[in-house]
Amino acid sequence: MNNKQSKIWFEKASSLMPGGVNSPVRAYRSVGLTPPFIASASGSKITDIDGNQYIDYVSTWGPAILGHANPAVIDAVKNILDGGTSFGAPTVAEVTMAEMICQAVPSVEMVRMVSSGTEAVMSAIRVARGYTGRDLILKFDGCYHGHSDGLLVKAGSGLLTYASPDSNGVPRDYAKNTLVVPYNDSEAVAEAFQKYGDQIAAIVLEPVAANMGVIAPKQGFLEGLRSIADQYKSLLIFDEVITGFRLAYGGAQQYFGVTADLTTFGKIIGGGLPVGAYGGRREIMQVVSPLGSVYQAGTLSGNPVATAAGIKTLKLLQDNPAIYQQLEDKAKFLEAHFLESAKKRAIPLTVNRVGSLLSVFFTDQAVVDFASASKANAARFKKYFKLMLENGIYLAPSPYEAIFVSDAHSEDDLKKTVSVIDDVFAKIK
Ligand code: PMP
Repeated sequence: MNNKQSKIWFEKASSLMPGGVNSPVRAYRSVGLTPPFIASASGSKITDIDGNQYIDYVSTWGPAILGHANPAVIDAVKNILDGGTSFGAPTVAEVTMAEMICQAVPSVEMVRMVSSGTEAVMSAIRVARGYTGRDLILKFDGCYHGHSDGLLVKAGSGLLTYASPDSNGVPRDYAKNTLVVPYNDSEAVAEAFQKYGDQIAAIVLEPVAANMGVIAPKQGFLEGLRSIADQYKSLLIFDEVITGFRLAYGGAQQYFGVTADLTTFGKIIGGGLPVGAYGGRREIMQVVSPLGSVYQAGTLSGNPVATAAGIKTLKLLQDNPAIYQQLEDKAKFLEAHFLESAKKRAIPLTVNRVGSLLSVFFTDQAVVDFASASKANAARFKKYFKLMLENGIYLAPSPYEAIFVSDAHSEDDLKKTVSVIDDVFAKIK
């Protein structure tokens, strides 16, 4: 694989931008390689500036559920451009977008558009605090909710702990307001509520964790959170930045039949442009300014270009309800072949899959939380990643990220992928 141009540009980028990138994982540090610089993408394929073409399973970290440069989405964007790209004033399209989100996820009766997933979760938490008059948040170790201060925290030692900052620059005083417990651990949640229940504004979680690899909620886990939140009059926030419009048109809430008080969105609802949103029950959302006293604003919120791309993407999903089963079938196909190749070579492997989200862990132990995810064999992942890339399969350069299957992945793509997996597994034994 020739990556001469990417190397040249990465060196230049590294002198101008921290790590040469605008988001850390793109720097390929955990796999020790030079990241391909991308020239373009179309459908299931992504092409770098050296002319290498890959089958892409990063799918821009989730948004490209229809594949890249979907012609109808591109047309929707093109059609809007001549009329201006930003007004900072109400538009009809924003109302359409709000209506589509509220219809898709019935627990969302009112919604506010923002510009990223980070902003969506940060704002939803402010709303939860404003609504309940409480300060504490309960989050789960290994769930990622963007890089806002109170959420960029890790568990301290011990089962139930106040969080400590997971980044320099996060004041301890912020982190102090976040409790962290292991994912899927209902007992730890119960213990946290026994101790601090009347101070907890909200539980926030990824209903399917997808930032420590993919981890499904255990049977009854989400239901348990729903009932404990009700019992203590805390709010339940589902961060559906990844799962929203991916697991089902109605996201994780439709998929699992559990209802959140507040929901955050991002990724797919922007159709590949920078968008986020948060919403929930009317009485809760009424605390948001200018109706209520929780302030939150944005110059580019509800931006017309991003809204056009998002609406078109959601319409395409809505008009093709069979898509979700198809996505799941493709992911199942990959899952089965990963397991088969691993078995053939006696490579310990666990595949976690929920709908069209999946990830592989090089371990034979069940992966149910961050502690078990981090026991997987990192050295083997590195080898696997490098060989997959060299053979034209573009994966996320970290064992803690998901494989995102898209509508654009064809049967040929999948067949090629599983044959590469088989060759690669033969070499990483
Ligand atoms: N929540 C979840 C579940 C995410 O996966 C991410 C980003 N991957 C975010 C929030 C933050 O979104 P953004 O990167 O758009 O700020």
